[in-house]
Amino acid sequence: MDFTLPEELRMLRDTVARFVREELLPLERDVIKREAERGLTDAPLIDPEVEKELGRKAKAIGLYGIDVPEEYGGQNLGMLAKAVVIEELKTSIVPFVLPPDSPNLWMLRETCKGDQIQKYLLPYASGEKKSAIAISEPGAGSDPAGMKTRAEYKNGKWVLNGQKIWISHARHADFMIVMALTDPAKGSRGGMTAFLVDKGTKGLSIPSVFNTMGEHAPYAVFLDNVELSDDQVLGEVGNGFGPMQNRLGVRRMEIACRALGYARRCMDLMLTQANQRKTFGALLAERQQVQWWLADSWQEMEMVRWITWRLAWKMDRSVDQGGGDWRREASMVKLQGSEMIARVSDRAIQLLGGMGVSKDMPLEYIARAVRVLRIFEGPSEVHRWVIARDLLRNGMPAE
Ligand SMILES: Cc1cc2nc3c(=O)[nH]c(=O)nc-3n(C[C@H](O)[C@H](O)[C@H](O)COP(=O)(O)OP(=O)(O)OC[C@H]3O[C@@H](n4cnc5c(N)ncnc54)[C@H](O)[C@@H]3O)c2cc1C
Repeated sequence: MDFTLPEELRMLRDTVARFVREELLPLERDVIKREAERGLTDAPLIDPEVEKELGRKAKAIGLYGIDVPEEYGGQNLGMLAKAVVIEELKTSIVPFVLPPDSPNLWMLRETCKGDQIQKYLLPYASGEKKSAIAISEPGAGSDPAGMKTRAEYKNGKWVLNGQKIWISHARHADFMIVMALTDPAKGSRGGMTAFLVDKGTKGLSIPSVFNTMGEHAPYAVFLDNVELSDDQVLGEVGNGFGPMQNRLGVRRMEIACRALGYARRCMDLMLTQANQRKTFGALLAERQQVQWWLADSWQEMEMVRWITWRLAWKMDRSVDQGGGDWRREASMVKLQGSEMIARVSDRAIQLLGGMGVSKDMPLEYIARAVRVLRIFEGPSEVHRWVIARDLLRNGMPAE
């Protein structure tokens, strides 16, 4: 066992830290202002031109295609590298993501075939095309197996009808992965299929945005007799649920990394404030309550980091070995990461007092941005259930 991060990943982390310092931190005021002024619209939190420029600068210093296989133009550095990069990026509140967004990349890697590789996977892997995934419905969120969206095969075409809700990036995506039932009797066990739906397809509409607490503004998506050809089936007909679950596992690991990045920012602010703010003639650092906030926060961060890196290592190993099951671990890291940052950001706000809730500081933004982490990609309660069910069925794992 070796607990040290490989030298190349430490160098990568330093590169991202410099990028955050030089490019992202100076944008934070603008992001806070844009978010405050956005109101009930989907106005972007980073100026699109600035975002493009960030992408170019990141690429120029080697920050691109971190988990993209070399045959698709990436660096194939693996998920541990991705974990390190995301944590470092999220020490800033600027919602900049190094393309491609990993979860859909993993799903496309697993399922694209034939012309789909040229049309979707390659431009997505290079960051040229953006995507979204439409799983949730008004009656099916935590339990996607309850979805109603239907895909029927008629006269050589797939015809999709249904309604999706909370779909992130839907209006900006060049294509969307849409989950639909091809056999309602079988449902998620052999009756759910993934489809590739291009922007502008007849019958596809994205009528409204949902402004939520924090930075996300997902959309409602309607499918009204959307006609698709056979080559828009992603993966095997009826077997969409497995690749979709694997994809969710990737996002769950990323959520823990985001929580770690935000938590480091909170700790940084807490340590600085504790060492310089005096009340009643003594530094906050001398108060036991403050010390316990710091001690508990750091321990919780360390615990999340180790289980997250272990999951990333397991994911990398599963790629090398042609498969693996990391659903329980993905539930664990998502649950622990999202709950850890709720506690850490709350302690940080309390320690900073009025400045903690002021929009002059990033804490207020962080506290709202992280609330949804306990809800999307499976709420905490569902992850606890998944972990318990696995233990009850299979007992404790050996390692
Ligand atoms: C900002 C945002 C972005 C999103 N982006 C996307 C996206 O891009 N694509 C997409 O498809 N979906 C997306 N979603 C949807 C998201 O995945 C769902 O909101 C989430 O899965 C919860 O579903 P729900 O909102 O229907 O809540 P429900 O399923 O109604 O659950 C509500 C609550 O009930 C409790 N609960 C549910 N099941 C159980 C159980 N078994 N045991 C105990 N308690 C339980 C939990 O406390 C849960 O929070 C997004 C959501 C948000 C808020």
